Amino acid sequence: MKEFDYIIIGGGCAGLSLAYELEINRKLKDKTLAIIEPREEYKRDKTWSFWKVFDHNFEDCVIKSWNNFTINSSESSQELTSKNFPYQSIDSGKFYEKINSKLSFNQNISFFKRLNEINSKNSIIFNSVFKGEQNKSELWQHFQGIEIETAKDIFDDEILNLMDFNCDQRNDVHFFYTLPFKKNKALIETTWLSDLDNQSLMDYDLQLENYIKNNLGIKNYKINFTEKGAIPLFYPTFKNNDKNINIGSAGGMTRLSTGYTFLNIQEHSKHIVNNIDEIEKLKTFNFGKKYQFLDKVFLKVLESHPEKMPKIFFDMFKASPNTIIKFLSNKSNILEDINIISKMPKLIFIKALFN
Ligand SMILES: Cc1cc2nc3c(=O)[nH]c(=O)nc-3n(C[C@H](O)[C@H](O)[C@H](O)COP(=O)(O)OP(=O)(O)OC[C@H]3O[C@@H](n4cnc5c(N)ncnc54)[C@H](O)[C@@H]3O)c2cc1C
Repeated sequence: MKEFDYIIIGGGCAGLSLAYELEINRKLKDKTLAIIEPREEYKRDKTWSFWKVFDHNFEDCVIKSWNNFTINSSESSQELTSKNFPYQSIDSGKFYEKINSKLSFNQNISFFKRLNEINSKNSIIFNSVFKGEQNKSELWQHFQGIEIETAKDIFDDEILNLMDFNCDQRNDVHFFYTLPFKKNKALIETTWLSDLDNQSLMDYDLQLENYIKNNLGIKNYKINFTEKGAIPLFYPTFKNNDKNINIGSAGGMTRLSTGYTFLNIQEHSKHIVNNIDEIEKLKTFNFGKKYQFLDKVFLKVLESHPEKMPKIFFDMFKASPNTIIKFLSNKSNILEDINIISKMPKLIFIKALFN
């Protein structure tokens, strides 16, 4: 069976980002790479959004960038503006196409459907696939989004709505999210922070239909695209070893308080490629122990007081836009951290610290 220097298990966001970073830095000129990916075809399946706090390789896959966003509670709305860090959405279809066409020129790169088609004994393995069953009773961010198109211009495409808590919470945490790509086209998502045991929260079609009709006042529209997902808000338990490095969500790249992963994946890919020649000695990458600690406390509060979360999120965004964006994108300094922490209700968070 054929052997390769490197194997990437899972040709999704993290696997392909890493392969692309290796290729553009000419690290595959005299090394071989196998990508293990079972999917039959690549097509748009997700929309990756984030605040652009550093440059990335996929500017040409951006559907839209915004400088303004709103947060809504059931009582009021606040608008934030950030010229320094635009919010961007990436079309996964364009991302897959760009990377796969680049990789197709290098004969040292091969795709396989299953790992047992090759000999993996001596390779460095980058794994983006979760091992074993994931616990449904833990906390997840689960959601469904639809991209709708209307005959008339309805949306203000200069401003996105990051969180709208003006909706049924059903004893968990629930909000809608609206990304207006054009004046007549928007991705609208219903998002829950809860375990996955409660099936009654998953009537997403109905939730979206009611929200679009009653909150947005839109009666006629067509649906162009649907995406659905569940992002684990807990870290994987399996660990790296010197020949096996976990990447992507399976490599702990998700920020647990937000679900944001895309830009962390880009940072991790660059880190791996910069250190590829001493990869066996590389320490496990993390985007900041302080965020891991603060997110843990935040999620404890969320689990014990879901009813308080709309106000906690709303108040958190009273900090200056740059501060909150840097905090949520793991780029804040200690003064900015203190500023955000000062917006939180003290007693509940102190109690969560000791529980
Ligand atoms: C619908 C959706 C929307 C999201 N939106 C955002 C967002 O807006 N912003 C953000 O930052 N994050 C977002 N995320 C979270 C995160 O960025 C994505 O989940 C991202 O795709 C994670 O990359 P990954 O490589 O870890 O996983 P994936 O992209 O899922 O890649 C894993 C790959 O492994 C393959 N695979 C599965 N089983 C096997 C196997 N046994 N062997 C080999 N390969 C296998 C899969 O086919 C897949 O291609 C979203 C997630 C989802 C599901």
